[in-house]
Amino acid sequence: MDELFEGLLAGNRRALSRAITLVESTRPDHRARAQALLAALPDRQALRIGLSGTPGVGKSTFIEAFGKLLTGQGLKVAVLAVDPSSARSGGSILGDKTRMETLSRDPNAFIRPSPSRTELGGVARRTREAVRLCEAAGFDVILIETVGVGQSETLVAEMSDLFILLLAPAGGDELQGVKRGIMEIADLVLVNKADGDLLPTARRTVADYAGALRLLRKRPNDPEGFPKALPVSAYTGEGLALAWENMGYLVDWRREHGHFDTVRADQARHWFLAELRAGLLAQLEAPAIRREVQRLGDAVAAGDLSPGDAASRILGHLAERGGQAGG
Ligand code: GDP
Repeated sequence: MDELFEGLLAGNRRALSRAITLVESTRPDHRARAQALLAALPDRQALRIGLSGTPGVGKSTFIEAFGKLLTGQGLKVAVLAVDPSSARSGGSILGDKTRMETLSRDPNAFIRPSPSRTELGGVARRTREAVRLCEAAGFDVILIETVGVGQSETLVAEMSDLFILLLAPAGGDELQGVKRGIMEIADLVLVNKADGDLLPTARRTVADYAGALRLLRKRPNDPEGFPKALPVSAYTGEGLALAWENMGYLVDWRREHGHFDTVRADQARHWFLAELRAGLLAQLEAPAIRREVQRLGDAVAAGDLSPGDAASRILGHLAERGGQAGG
């Protein structure tokens, strides 16, 4: 454990890998060790950037190019993935090992695919804890990648300082296809593939989204001009430096105005409540409680007991059990 801890703090990627495997484990003894490890971590901060986009928009190509830009500036970059498809089926859209080959060979980069066959709530916790481990290991920027399906975007946004939506060039009518909720959480909309034949369409897409973003309510925590749409090309590298400058500007502005820390504090509170809810739900899965839920459910169905009464009884049982567990 000490060796793992020291390796982690020294920025050793193998130690980081092992530590993430530990926080991914659901075995109670592993869980206890993971909690102890997490509690002992120093308070290092990295910039956490959430990145979302549907399959094929160029996320891995973008991360590879953007990651190289950052490591080229002497920054250490970690890439984590939240892949809802792997949570459902065990197969993953984001996980395959051939992605980001150049970046994965860079000594200043660390890439970790999404764990498979873990439900999304579990992936959320594991990713949050992995973020903390990467911070402790001295990484400067943490990219948290996800695909544009399901609730994974909201989940990633809740653990990021900046949220980026990556899009491909497309006709104006496809703008409808991006859910409003995602537009509302995006700090930057980057239209990738702004190169070659696609350049004119990419420019038009940027203009479309810039227009759509202006129609959204201005966020009180952001400077003029944000959220913003910009063209990039992961192939040519065009626009990547400008996108990075804009991220820096936005983050500095939020820090100066006290919003950065407030958002992190709110996120911490959010995750505390999420863990609490998950813990309470897990209690309902205890065999004795399940049997009681089944029994009272039958009574409710038969009209012998009201739903409210039945729920109160179960909550009463849980409180009793909690009282016993507490001493
Ligand atoms: P992901 O599924 O979002 O990770 O997307 P990929 O990075 O695998 O890219 C999907 C396809 O788009 C691949 O064929 C890439 O070669 C291509 N692509 C990615 N970035 C660019 C770019 O900047 N310009 C062009 N023209 N194609 C790109």
